[in-house]
Amino acid sequence: MSVFDLRDFDQHEQVSFFNDPETGLKAIIAVHNTHLGPALGGCRMWAYENEEQAITDVLRLSRGMTYKAAITGLPLGGGKSVIIGDARRDKTPELMRAMGRAVNALRGRYIVAEDVGMSVDDMVQISKETRHVLGLPSENGSGGGDPSPVTAFGVYTGLKAAVKHRLNRDDIAGLRVAVQGLGNVGYNLCKLLAADGVVLTVTDVHQDRVKTAIAELGATAVPPENIYDAEVDVFAPCALGGAINDGTIARIKADVISGAANNQLAEARHGDVLREKNVLYAPDYVINAGGLIAVHYEYRARSAGETYDRDAVMAHVARIAETVESVFQRAAQEAVSTAVAADRIAEQRFGRAPAASQAA
Ligand code: NAD
Repeated sequence: MSVFDLRDFDQHEQVSFFNDPETGLKAIIAVHNTHLGPALGGCRMWAYENEEQAITDVLRLSRGMTYKAAITGLPLGGGKSVIIGDARRDKTPELMRAMGRAVNALRGRYIVAEDVGMSVDDMVQISKETRHVLGLPSENGSGGGDPSPVTAFGVYTGLKAAVKHRLNRDDIAGLRVAVQGLGNVGYNLCKLLAADGVVLTVTDVHQDRVKTAIAELGATAVPPENIYDAEVDVFAPCALGGAINDGTIARIKADVISGAANNQLAEARHGDVLREKNVLYAPDYVINAGGLIAVHYEYRARSAGETYDRDAVMAHVARIAETVESVFQRAAQEAVSTAVAADRIAEQRFGRAPAASQAA
């Protein structure tokens, strides 16, 4: 397999493979673009069925980080890493330290933080081997802790902006929202929505999370496969990527799609299909930027020897509402999907020439 020829390669600057037989680490670090600054992006630990899946995932996620940083106005580039393995079964402190050495080998071109399957404790292990790590415990002074609640707040803000735009509603009490995935972000999003009186339909492959959502938030649960058929106003994908695909688009009844998951569109053309169906899609990397904003402030605080300023972070994250509205307006002006409009704004900022983006 040639990595350079993959559809998702998309002009990556660097893709590095790491193998550490002693700890069992098999990892890939992808650096998509560093025009605006060092490539910052989470590490995902997942039991990929094969190497191709892992490579495709890391390339797509890494590219998304370039666009996310650019559209959010942060001086950062895009990168991401994956560890091939089951986070519940294969993770050890030694494996995390081996990952730290891998990150360190890139000498700051890539900065790691949490993603699916990784925790603040894992970042602490990684930090024993490299200083190019964020998402460290808040007790550290400059550390911001788990970025997931901040991401959830950004998604909540973006979701409300999308509902205002499409349904002309400020008050979301009684709004029906389906949440797919009750993990670190999804569950925090549910808490914020429930506090506003939103009627929640939820699902997760892990029943413990579902039971808590029913008991604590009065949510209604459906099996994972049925979430696409829920009679709701908003669909919030908060699990893994690819939730919007040929098989699910026809089933989704919501007027708005607005969730935390990265790479929600299985293929770029699905953004056009949603536009044709008059479903307003809040592009994933625009509304899930809260965590990136949080780790950026952590990075700045640490570089300047200052304390992490949570209030400044939340004020910045609240501006996701304005960013998402500007994407909707650009999409309307240029008669393109919201996904294309977001890409155009981001590409202008990170300096990709229009001809290259069309060829990609
Ligand atoms: P997580 O691992 O804590 O949660 C994911 C949840 O989805 C888990 O509870 C899992 O059981 C569930 N799930 C997996 N497949 C499912 C399926 N088919 N149906 C229903 N549930 C399913 O991860 P997270 O940190 O909450 O992240 C969720 C998504 O948001 C990911 O796509 C991640 O890349 C993205 N994201 C997270 C952050 C962050 O700050 N954590 C930031 C930006 C984007």
